[in-house]
Amino acid sequence: MSGSPIDPDNGKASELSALLKRRGFFFPSYEIYGGVAGFFDMGPMGSLLKDNIIKKWKDRFVIEEGFLLVDCPSIAPEVVFRHSGHLDKFSDMLTRCTDCSEPFRADHLLDDIIENADSLSEDELFTALKENDVKCPNCGGSLGPLEEFNLMFKTYIGTGSDRPAFLRPETAQSIFLDFPLLYRTNREKIPFGVAQIGKGFRNEISPRQGLLRQREFHMAEGEFFFDPEADGFPAFDTYRDLKVNLVANTDPDNSIRKELSSAVSEGMICSEVLGYFMGVTHSFAREIGIPEDRMRFREHLDTEMAHYARDCWDLEVLTSYGWIEMVGIADRSAYDLEQHTKGSGQEMTAMRRYPEPIQKEVTTISVNMKVLGPIFRGAAKEVNDAVSLLDPAAVKELLETGEPVKVVISQGEVEVPPGSLSIATEEKRVAGERFTPHVVEPSFGIDRLMVAVIEHAYFEAEKSPLREEASDGEGPYRVMRLLPSISPVKCGVFPLMNKDGLPELAIPIEKDLRKCGLITYYDHSGSIGRRYARMDEIGTPFNVTIDYESKDDGCVTIRERDTGIQKRVPISRIVNVISDLVSEKIIFDDLDQPVIS
Ligand code: AMP
Repeated sequence: MSGSPIDPDNGKASELSALLKRRGFFFPSYEIYGGVAGFFDMGPMGSLLKDNIIKKWKDRFVIEEGFLLVDCPSIAPEVVFRHSGHLDKFSDMLTRCTDCSEPFRADHLLDDIIENADSLSEDELFTALKENDVKCPNCGGSLGPLEEFNLMFKTYIGTGSDRPAFLRPETAQSIFLDFPLLYRTNREKIPFGVAQIGKGFRNEISPRQGLLRQREFHMAEGEFFFDPEADGFPAFDTYRDLKVNLVANTDPDNSIRKELSSAVSEGMICSEVLGYFMGVTHSFAREIGIPEDRMRFREHLDTEMAHYARDCWDLEVLTSYGWIEMVGIADRSAYDLEQHTKGSGQEMTAMRRYPEPIQKEVTTISVNMKVLGPIFRGAAKEVNDAVSLLDPAAVKELLETGEPVKVVISQGEVEVPPGSLSIATEEKRVAGERFTPHVVEPSFGIDRLMVAVIEHAYFEAEKSPLREEASDGEGPYRVMRLLPSISPVKCGVFPLMNKDGLPELAIPIEKDLRKCGLITYYDHSGSIGRRYARMDEIGTPFNVTIDYESKDDGCVTIRERDTGIQKRVPISRIVNVISDLVSEKIIFDDLDQPVIS
């Protein structure tokens, strides 16, 4: 059978998208009212497939990697995004056609002309649009000036308009806000990871690539908190020798194949922690069925880096739309925790323990509440808390030079009267020192991965014994070779005829498979070939057929999707066999062995 539809011009992409709609994977939302770009409904097959990818992600990050799973709200008050930087910086450049008023994301208009147009500055974008004489793709009209467009959806909490809020553009921020609690939950051990799976919302300017660019999409994010001064990262050994395709920002036109360890030691990847999560991401992508030769890691150009990122590598997969980012793996340094400390006054540090407690000169600040109370009244405690977060040595210097000591509280920045502060220095035994952890974030776009998985599982055959049986009897024979563990339906159950005692054998088999947690599809009508063809199109890896012989020998036939080979298995073993095949404990070839025959 021919390969997957990675070429946008070979027509297979549109064949596939018709199939996905027809078979209930996904389709545009609100279609009966004309639809709204950037929103999609997951149908019965798509929901199951997506759920299976999420389950695999949880197995990897929560079970294997031990990340703590959290589940936080999708709406957050404005203050969160003011301090995270999203309010100022989470935007794309917009231009409108001066004739038809259609809005466009400016860099997308240059996609076929310039590589990495999204890394251009506003001035560079403007010049490139002019120099290349780019016109409105809709009507050929001239394009208007560039404007910055914030991608967050705004809303309000409660009945008035005094509490502005936003739908989260990423799930990460709540994890940062919860850091002090989560650190304590983790019994103050570091490093540790926190995971969250949920919807992200981005008001994309002109979403046009199906599930790849939506306004509401599923994200699975991990935030890994670590000490940047720790010696090495032993877990990296797991992926040290893994060879991957890398496109570094120093040579953005070439992909090289390299071991992760060399890329880290040469300084191409900034740390072993980042290298480790690139390894985890690569292995996860392989596990859900993305072929090695369709994957590469591309480093962000300096101008393309998100406002929070110190270094960032995207896992890109070759799709019918070209190379597309599936996962962003960013070193966010201490950016977010420091920002939220500044914003909230809440300490967001961890303890770096010394091997042995040491004798150390320690400077402390104490606040005289008798002085502070009458000045700040109800806010005095807040001021006191904020002062306790200041670096005592720095405060000492300010007091000595007569400069003001300022803190931020909910009312804004206030000056602390010097008479309310006293500084003491004494020798103490200390067990460690406090530091702000750094964060590496692997951020997975689940819907994009789903598209990549589907495209690479999709095969067409002009010739197939079942060609005539294909559901619509037209076009090529289509098979979705999804891995059994992620395919939506695991097993078809088919009584050859809907009579003569065959349903009486088939129905209990289906019931037992479902009891065992396997999604099945029961079908008693039409030719058996047509029933197989329908299952092949949605990627069902195995089908069980109950025929007249089953009544005599107590066996049924299992057909494997990818080879079409059929084997007989006793009814008493069918549930175990299908469930072992689906969980990939055994492969179809193992069925020849006497233990199951
Ligand atoms: P980012 O925070 O921009 O790195 O996004 C994290 C991941 O979310 C990306 O790697 C994509 O897989 C996915 N993603 C970002 N924007 C969209 C979108 N508009 N539609 C679907 N997936 C998206």
